[in-house]
Amino acid sequence: MVSSARPSGFFRKPSTGIKVVIVGAGFAGLTAAIECDRKGHDVILLEAFPELKILGDIISFGPNSGRIFQKWEGVEEKLDPICHKSDGILFKSYLGEDLITQYWHDEEPYGKKFNGHRGEIHEIVFNHAVERSIDIRLGQRVTDYFETDTEAGVIVNGTDRVVGDVVFAAEGVRSPGRKIVLGYEDKPKSSGYAVYRAWFDSSQLTHPITKHLVQNGDAHVAWIGPDVHFIAASLKNGRDFSWVCTHKDEADIEDSWSTPGQVEEALKVVENWDPVVQEIIRATPPEYLVDWKLVYRDPLPTWISPKGRIALIGDAAHPFLPTSIQGASQSMEDGVNLAVCLELAGKSRVQEALRAHERIRYDRVLQAQRTGVTTRDQWHKADFDNVKKNPEVLKLKREPWLLDFDSEKHAYDVYESTVAEMRKEGQQAHL
Ligand SMILES: Cc1cc2nc3c(=O)[nH]c(=O)nc-3n(C[C@H](O)[C@H](O)[C@H](O)COP(=O)(O)OP(=O)(O)OC[C@H]3O[C@@H](n4cnc5c(N)ncnc54)[C@H](O)[C@@H]3O)c2cc1C
Repeated sequence: MVSSARPSGFFRKPSTGIKVVIVGAGFAGLTAAIECDRKGHDVILLEAFPELKILGDIISFGPNSGRIFQKWEGVEEKLDPICHKSDGILFKSYLGEDLITQYWHDEEPYGKKFNGHRGEIHEIVFNHAVERSIDIRLGQRVTDYFETDTEAGVIVNGTDRVVGDVVFAAEGVRSPGRKIVLGYEDKPKSSGYAVYRAWFDSSQLTHPITKHLVQNGDAHVAWIGPDVHFIAASLKNGRDFSWVCTHKDEADIEDSWSTPGQVEEALKVVENWDPVVQEIIRATPPEYLVDWKLVYRDPLPTWISPKGRIALIGDAAHPFLPTSIQGASQSMEDGVNLAVCLELAGKSRVQEALRAHERIRYDRVLQAQRTGVTTRDQWHKADFDNVKKNPEVLKLKREPWLLDFDSEKHAYDVYESTVAEMRKEGQQAHL
């Protein structure tokens, strides 16, 4: 197919005439918008926030999503200076004993990963979508969804209708779009864990026992203890510092990224731990400490609405535990896959595209979600006698099926056979 370029010089295929309405400008919504634009679909992106804010703290994009950023003109160059750079992660026991370093060079052939501040990376991606001239409308809270056999749409701010051929609900873990897809209210539940999270200027780390973490480049260290883990990373050549501490917590689910955390409470979680960890927490400016209750949802039976025109994507479809290190990456893969499916299906067969999307993605996403539980248990339920004998058990499983994966190529490769399979099953069901 001949590709066309927009006046601004961004790659875009010829128009398909497919109108895509996307709700939510997180990484799922933005990726879907950019990828749909690249494939020639017409996009309207609706976001509740009235303005862009630099929110959140550390977020990780594996090589499977790093390759998506790399396709977007100029984005990699902007990400490079703000992303974490280290050769590996040092695992320590909660008492401070060095156990093992997991080096990243083994996975370099999979591609490039990007770890950095969620808000800073989000701003770069958001600006890329703006530069592409995507129709982004801020301050647009979607209050309802609807679909017929011929169209799908949303109600914005309780009054206005926005209509398209398909709608992608990318509104995150509290998605109201789930109701129309599932036919019932599906409430998030506690995962039984919470995460203290912080990001601050590393000049705060003045104590001699923490200095080594922010000198001589970026450091990455994980302390593993009984049902608690603490991970610290420095970034921008040691200028910024971030830490997360996952621990048991059965409290009510707030799921707000800005719930303030208490330094004294965080210290209780690591009582008797390595003094370095305690000093990091003590040095944390209280205004930069967040207490985030980890929401979980059981995997949904489907992500696609009854008439096949609304798709849940990203966290709205499949929230991830942070220990999977894949939530943001999988939300990006959704957008890539959907854009290809719509391109190959064409405007008259968009429902087929959405159903094929689910079939192509479902098992992969489920498997990726499970890695979050496996890694958490591998750390939180570690038998420390065994760990000392064989610290390899702490290493993250950085598997090629997950990371060495090109979602765009995969979608092109399997779309036709997936649709053929669906048609065959449909015919058999009618026999
Ligand atoms: C403010 C914020 C900070 C975060 N910080 C981190 C972090 O530090 N580390 C980390 O690992 N993950 C963080 N996350 C989560 C992470 O971004 C997601 O898990 C992952 O990237 C998947 O993204 P998503 O696009 O599916 O969902 P989200 O990133 O949650 O994005 C959903 C978007 O939809 C918008 N929205 C919600 N409801 C409506 C509505 N009714 N109408 C219109 N728009 C709506 C939201 O405002 C938001 O912009 C954060 C998410 C948010 C929203």
